[in-house]
Amino acid sequence: MVMSSYSRIAFAIMALAAVTVNAAKPKVSIRFPKDGATFPDGQTQTYVMGNVIPPSAAVTCNGEPVAVHPKTGGFVFMRELQYGVNRIELVSGDVSAVCTVKRQLPVPKAASAISPYTLREPTGVMTGESVRLVCLTLPGRKVYAKVGKESIQLQESADHPGTYSASRAWKNTTEKPLPVSYYGNGLETAEAGTLEVRNEWPNCEVNGPRYEVRFRSLPGDGDTLGFPETGLVLKTTGYSGNHIRCRVGDRDYWIARDYTRTAEGKPAVNEIPDPSTGFAPYPAAGKKPRDILVVIDPGHGGSDTGAIGPTGRMEKDANLLQATAIGKALKKAGFKVEYTRTKDVAVGLYERVRLAVKHHADAFISVHHNATAASTDPREVRHFISFGWNERGLGLAAALHPGIAAVSGVSDRGVRPNSLAVCRNPAVPSCLIEFDFINEPEGEYEIFNNTSRRKAYADAVVKGMLQWLGTAEREKKAAEK
Ligand SMILES: [Zn+2]
Repeated sequence: MVMSSYSRIAFAIMALAAVTVNAAKPKVSIRFPKDGATFPDGQTQTYVMGNVIPPSAAVTCNGEPVAVHPKTGGFVFMRELQYGVNRIELVSGDVSAVCTVKRQLPVPKAASAISPYTLREPTGVMTGESVRLVCLTLPGRKVYAKVGKESIQLQESADHPGTYSASRAWKNTTEKPLPVSYYGNGLETAEAGTLEVRNEWPNCEVNGPRYEVRFRSLPGDGDTLGFPETGLVLKTTGYSGNHIRCRVGDRDYWIARDYTRTAEGKPAVNEIPDPSTGFAPYPAAGKKPRDILVVIDPGHGGSDTGAIGPTGRMEKDANLLQATAIGKALKKAGFKVEYTRTKDVAVGLYERVRLAVKHHADAFISVHHNATAASTDPREVRHFISFGWNERGLGLAAALHPGIAAVSGVSDRGVRPNSLAVCRNPAVPSCLIEFDFINEPEGEYEIFNNTSRRKAYADAVVKGMLQWLGTAEREKKAAEK
């Protein structure tokens, strides 16, 4: 190749430029997964998230090119997980970042194993109460439950082969908890919990903080049925594991044992007081913005970072930025505003709820940013969503949601009920808004750099609040008719 003197100069400049780029090597970082992470055997893929500086540098992962955000250098992509060790190597020029993760091998299940289905936990019941004994194993066997010294034959279900059950009531009180196991011919015996039968169980008294102690429809699970006040005395009818079963009226309520103490001799209540007593059913009805106190709750804080984005930016900071913008806009429109935090500090979930109750707030808005689980590609699910739990919280979310959705620029998943600690507050209409996905490169970029969208979100919340005042007014009038 022959060079003119002009191209020789150009070549020299280019060579100089190449040397300069070499001097400032690209920097590749992997933010997720963490090096050394272990995934369960059932997880077949994970997202890999990180960034490269400068964003113009080409990146490959195990030889495959990686798409990079043009402004931040952020990237996210999916990678299959093989059993055992998986090496993820990102290369840009002559620099690389390596992350080694493990996917657990499946644990082989013995063909002759029995899985206890009921009475897995120590259980207490009333004398004469029917107790279900259920276990799962191979079909077509003779299977028994042993309770104390007594053996009870179980029947196999015609609809569900391999499921064996029997119901039985104990007429007499047991002196102490009886060990329970399930066994059968050619099957390994499975030890389960214990069974304790009594005529009477001592009353219990609630001694945990209100709005944290919950009545559940099932032990440790199920729906939230209410929030008992400290000092409430309840009739108990047994237990399962570390949950006590209480009977009020004709309904069972489960409550964590840690939040109770025995209250022998104290009379139990016949009715559960409504925890929203003292709070108006339509708190905002007929009020002007100056009468309305809104508690704005920037999620996470301090050591609780919340979700993390490709360049390492944190949800707790995103939440504070967005929450502050909302608070300012509400104040400008005449609303009274309190924050659960204004700095980067840790605040407990129930502390946030109690603050709203203490202030007798009219509305509580929790500000969050979303992220996907490790096995889900955030590029495919990036959306906008709002949550409430009870009717009042869902009503507030429904008023705020459409305006915010209109400016979000991402797909709209609507208002959904969700049993979240900050949404369950029975005293204050409470909702939680997930503004965008932080673990998606464009989402992270927009959250921290699109200040006009942040302002538009804040204005949409103001509009929604004004709309909510009108809705509350209409609902109140309709209820009075
Ligand atoms: Zn969050």
